[in-house]
Amino acid sequence: MKISSTFDAGSIEVVALDSFDDIRLRLRPDNASDFAQWFYFRLQGAAYQPCTMRILNAADAAYPEGWVDYQPCASYDRVNWFRVPARYEDGVLIIEHTPLASSIYYAYFEPYSYEQHLRLIGEAQSSGLVQLSDLGSTLDGRDLSLLTIGHEVSSDLKVWIIARQHPGETMTEWFIEGLLGRLLDTHDSLARALMDKATFYIVPNMNPDGSVRGNLRTNAAGANLNREWLTPSAERSPEVLWVREKMQETGVDLFLDIHGDESLPYVFVAGTEGTPNYRAPIAALEDKFKQHFLLASPDFQDEHGYAKDAPGEANLSMATAWVGNAFECLAFTLEMPFKDNANLPDDDMGWNGQRSLRLGEAILQPIYAVLNDIQLLRASQDDPSSAV
Ligand code: ZN
Repeated sequence: MKISSTFDAGSIEVVALDSFDDIRLRLRPDNASDFAQWFYFRLQGAAYQPCTMRILNAADAAYPEGWVDYQPCASYDRVNWFRVPARYEDGVLIIEHTPLASSIYYAYFEPYSYEQHLRLIGEAQSSGLVQLSDLGSTLDGRDLSLLTIGHEVSSDLKVWIIARQHPGETMTEWFIEGLLGRLLDTHDSLARALMDKATFYIVPNMNPDGSVRGNLRTNAAGANLNREWLTPSAERSPEVLWVREKMQETGVDLFLDIHGDESLPYVFVAGTEGTPNYRAPIAALEDKFKQHFLLASPDFQDEHGYAKDAPGEANLSMATAWVGNAFECLAFTLEMPFKDNANLPDDDMGWNGQRSLRLGEAILQPIYAVLNDIQLLRASQDDPSSAV
């Protein structure tokens, strides 16, 4: 019997591997911080053996409540992933599974590898509709890639979408894959109508270093990028610094920051109600966006989510608050579950890559629904005499 994790996004510590029913493991924290929750490892030599794997330090994870009603992901081929039974008891995550082959992978969530990332941006470029540009090199020397889709004329609304600031939230890059697939489909009338009015700026992976290192939440320097937006630095958070600079160059009319939530079994969004520049027209845009999102995808709901920030209480070091406030625009954090959508559960798969991908396709509809209103709002902002 053997456990290994030296591969893209692999992460686990082996404590004891003496018998199939007593495999003892520990979560390995991010390389330069204490955050831990992501795991991804390969088990070999246990075919047809009932295995009991205990993750001993599950209680020390970033979100221990994330283990309640949680089922780990498993795959024999790293293409088809399914859920396996687990329970959280006395601070230990206990996974009980009988592998049906000599080699099997277990992961916190269906991974999205760096190779998939490179294929995604390469295929996008091949569509002929995408300008692929390099914003800079990360601390580990990886490329931070930006996809620009649209005509980039000044009358266009600027739609910015970023994903995977938190590298363990792999569902977010699946989401981008779905969004791109639809947006680049020339037979899709919604995509074509969007392209007439907007230029999209998409960063499919804000944190490639953390992704490859198998981190949950931080980059190679240990920075939680979604706390760096007020004062990003080249030493600690170059990824945010460059994206911010590019945004200041292009402007932003609509912003989405895509995430996964360890605890809440729902898809939901959080807006910018606590920022200093929050105004009634933005609140109206938020409502309209959410109404159309509800129609576009039954996976979305607006009942469960984060508590709303009180006026002035928003944390401006977070992307959505900083961007929404700086550009006085509609801005949302979108969260998908690690567990499942409790409103539409799937016992075999839970929430997974394909469901995230479909949600990425669906998001184009609410974006389209609010574009005219954003245009009117911008026109009134440019013309003080027509202030409403
Ligand atoms: Zn996140």
